[in-house]
Amino acid sequence: MRLKGKVALITGAASGIGLATAKRFIEEGAVVAACDFNVDALNKASNELGQDYHPYKMDVSDHDGVKEIVDKIVADLGKIDILVNNAGITKDNFLIKMPEADFDAVINVNLKGVYNVTQAVVPYMMEKKSGVILNASSVVGVYGNIGQTNYVASKAGVIGMTKTWAKEFARYNVRVNAVAPGFIKTPMTSTVPQKVIDYMNSKTPLGRMGEAIEIANAYLFLASDEASYITGQVLGVDGGLVV
Ligand code: NAP
Repeated sequence: MRLKGKVALITGAASGIGLATAKRFIEEGAVVAACDFNVDALNKASNELGQDYHPYKMDVSDHDGVKEIVDKIVADLGKIDILVNNAGITKDNFLIKMPEADFDAVINVNLKGVYNVTQAVVPYMMEKKSGVILNASSVVGVYGNIGQTNYVASKAGVIGMTKTWAKEFARYNVRVNAVAPGFIKTPMTSTVPQKVIDYMNSKTPLGRMGEAIEIANAYLFLASDEASYITGQVLGVDGGLVV
């Protein structure tokens, strides 16, 4: 049991990678504050995962709302040891066709959302002089991608915040790392056409898409004491897509 006695707040915990991470953390002894926008999906997951999965409706882009819910989680569960900033959305388009509203929406969830939740959670970790923060980036945040100006900007920004916070919070014994997944099978990628999937698989040395559990296992390692000397890093989990 690598997370016995730990409380983990996971955003976007009702679907895809966030749900797989909640499940994996609970298997390893954690209690999970599962935060998500999608109430139906939260309730479904709660019925499946049982009493260690505590659902909270949260819109990560709402600065004041996030603070209220984080304070409630600490009142309910006593503390937050691990934060996984996983919630994310895409609104893809070529730059010349990208509406301002779609640029803002993706930045507000994927980048500002990480700022909002971390700013609300980290004072509790500083007080205890202990904590782990894990952020969802992406391979495209490092290498760029056609048609994803907003998403790439958000995921590159997450890497910048990860490195900054690793330096800012090390003195409080808070580690901060990011995971950069490649192409993973989740509801987010479920509408990608088969010919694009075939192309991506042909470019991936391991020759297939990743599973959500493979990202969850990376979060588990980074959240555990096995990663006690790792901070400020971006761990690629992409089947060798970027080498
Ligand atoms: P997903 O299946 O779409 O799950 C994301 C969850 O976040 C959904 O339940 C979604 O709710 C929720 N969410 C959306 N906006 C939110 C908000 N404002 N506040 C709180 N929750 C919100 O996505 P995923 O594929 O698991 O992706 C998880 C993370 O990994 C994202 O940050 C993504 O960018 C990153 N990532 C994914 C891949 C991939 O190939 N799948 C690759 C690289 C990085 P709704 O259902 O209502 O939208």
